[in-house]
Amino acid sequence: MNKEKDKRQSALKVQDGIDQPSSINPSLSKGLDKFKKSKTDVNELVNGILKGDRSSLSRAITIIESSLSSDKIIAREIIQSCLPHSGKSIRIGVTGVPGVGKSTFIESFGNMLIKEGKKVAVLAIDPSSKRTKGSILGDKTRMESLSVNDKAFIRPSASAGTLGGVARKTRETITLCEAAGFDIILVETVGVGQSEVAVAQIVDFFLLLMLAGSGDELQGIKRGIMEMADMIMINKADGDNINKANLAKREFENALHLFPALKNQWIPKVTTASALMKNGIDNVWKTIAEYVELTKSNGHFDLKRSQQSGDILRDTLESSLMDDFYNTPGLKEKLDKINDKISKGLLNPYDAAEELLNIYRKS
Ligand code: GDP
Repeated sequence: MNKEKDKRQSALKVQDGIDQPSSINPSLSKGLDKFKKSKTDVNELVNGILKGDRSSLSRAITIIESSLSSDKIIAREIIQSCLPHSGKSIRIGVTGVPGVGKSTFIESFGNMLIKEGKKVAVLAIDPSSKRTKGSILGDKTRMESLSVNDKAFIRPSASAGTLGGVARKTRETITLCEAAGFDIILVETVGVGQSEVAVAQIVDFFLLLMLAGSGDELQGIKRGIMEMADMIMINKADGDNINKANLAKREFENALHLFPALKNQWIPKVTTASALMKNGIDNVWKTIAEYVELTKSNGHFDLKRSQQSGDILRDTLESSLMDDFYNTPGLKEKLDKINDKISKGLLNPYDAAEELLNIYRKS
């Protein structure tokens, strides 16, 4: 009986012998200390953002972009405080190959919106950019007048990190810009590829800029990207180019007809414009306003946003789980051995996967 009791006691007893660190992650506790000290700074920063103060906004974005774990804690607090004040803007993705006229368009379009009384923020997703300032402001001549307008806020892409990381920071930056009262957020992607998919996950409306050209208009642009576009704007429709642009418009309209109808009932539009001459830019805004009106009235505007959040949750979980899995101690070595066995036909890949998962589950 006594023995039984001892056993029970021992089952509840914490084993001696291993000194526990005061915190599992020392940098986390350092961050918390720093955070407590800077609690007033965070409040000040958030108040500044809510008043629309651009330097507070810039400082907060720098904290979001920082990879220091102490900054990550502060960033989370800032985002949390801004979230209830966010969500009211229209988020527009602008994409197209380099040279198509994205920055010229954003300059014309942004200035037009500001004349209509809007506040415009311009962000960029460009994970490929090696330039420290990102590409959007790398060239000082880009968006010259917009960059000095106090109703505009231009922020270069967070230069470091994976596409997922940059997209996340951009989404968080959108939250802060909205809390600061910006009602139109333009997210520019540079180049044509993976980053468009990331942008589509964080914007309400996707605008694709194209050029009328050599007769093979569809070249160089992936079908998937065209399929994501809510509007195609054929830029540089000026001078000798007008006829070609009109021809391209018809071709794109035909190409878009082949895509399946959208659930939100929107029919993607094609237009010609000249960002440089500021012709047709108002038409782009009119179309976006129509899109917003339609999707808000049929519920798809909010539905899309909540689906985007769900997608991001899933993607984040999946990538974190994959990271955890591959970081399991000893897994890499085991994987090499298993690959070898599989290639020699000594093990089937399904059993191998289960074996590796068991190592992860037990870790
Ligand atoms: P981005 O690389 O897509 O941002 O392209 P930019 O805005 O830097 O434009 C590339 C070049 O095309 C610049 O020399 C612009 O002046 C020119 N450009 C942009 N839009 C137009 C337009 O509507 N018409 C003409 N003719 N040139 C344009």
